[in-house]
Amino acid sequence: MIPPQNGVGGSTSTAGLSRSERLARLPLREELRGQEPYGAPQLPVWAMLNVNETTYDVPADVVDAITKEVRHAAQTLNRYPDREFTRLREKLAEYLAHGLTAEHIWAANGSNEIMQHILQAFAGPGRSVMAFPPTYSMYPLYARGTYSRYIAGTRGEDFTQGAEDVARQIREHRPDVVILCSPNNPTGTALGLDVVEAAYDAAVEGGTMVVVDEAYGEFRQSGTPSALELLPGRERLIVSRTMSKAFALAGGRLGYLAAAEEVTDALRLVRLPYHLSAITQAAAEAALDHSEALMANVERIKTQRDRIVDTLTRYGLSPAPSDANFVFFGGLEDEKAAWQHLLDDGILIRDVGIPGHLRVTAGTEAETTAFLESLARHLGR
Ligand SMILES: *Cc1c(COP(=O)(O)O)cnc(C)c1O
Repeated sequence: MIPPQNGVGGSTSTAGLSRSERLARLPLREELRGQEPYGAPQLPVWAMLNVNETTYDVPADVVDAITKEVRHAAQTLNRYPDREFTRLREKLAEYLAHGLTAEHIWAANGSNEIMQHILQAFAGPGRSVMAFPPTYSMYPLYARGTYSRYIAGTRGEDFTQGAEDVARQIREHRPDVVILCSPNNPTGTALGLDVVEAAYDAAVEGGTMVVVDEAYGEFRQSGTPSALELLPGRERLIVSRTMSKAFALAGGRLGYLAAAEEVTDALRLVRLPYHLSAITQAAAEAALDHSEALMANVERIKTQRDRIVDTLTRYGLSPAPSDANFVFFGGLEDEKAAWQHLLDDGILIRDVGIPGHLRVTAGTEAETTAFLESLARHLGR
């Protein structure tokens, strides 16, 4: 007897099969076969500079405030949390300012889930999502997870995006959702508002929603504006933010967005009830109460970021200008050898798969010094 290919309706005995063979026998959706899950390395090295976390410890007074709020929330964990997370939305609106109120705010478990909500509401089967690689490696995975078609746009030679070029590509492809990442991961560079405006005008013609992912918004160079400024009167524009980076709360899982009130109503249709736990809401609210203290570290990180750009330039490498908490640099003969040399010194950075290039998170002064000195040794400087 020939065993069935995928186990559907046939023998389900998997004795002696490898884990991947057992996976292959499951009645998995066709588009998921042979795919890989997201997996940036999580290695316990001295300097983890590969996923753009804040590397400073959470300040002690913020730890105390979070603990107090979580303890308070624990007393009512027998009840479902506030489904509308009203107090959290109020605090997020106050933090973003720009005339926003709680009605303009939506939040979820990381901007990962924010993006999933957006695509569930506005993309999905038979619809498409467009982004412009090299950009955040999660965008195609959000598309895959929501059964949306992913359209990869193009960038200029130096990975920058011009207003006319972006508008032309949106008009050509007419995606249902377009994602602009500003400052862009992995390149670090922010978009001028002229580019966002041109993208928006082209998008509105074709019924497209525009998402500006500002995960690194707090690290912008002074004078670089936020797309939040463009929200008034633009009901198809969504600005996405996260507490994972500037707020040093990657483990807390809190992403959020600002948009027209009716956009948040669209997202209420797809969220799972009570998606934000009472613990998550309490921790995020406590961190927001300490945003000023947390932003002090942002300034320190920006100083190290600028130092990395200056020093790598002196090394004869070509770092991209950065509005983020990381630096993308080219000019390496063998990026894999450089990456391994750094790892051997206990410093983990990111190989983003672009020949001659690597990306490093700006950490503490000590981490930055160790990175720069290790790289100098590798380059023989
Ligand atoms: C880190 C990052 C995020 C944050 O994701 P979370 O799910 O909020 O942790 C979002 N967008 C980009 C481009 C990022 O690099």
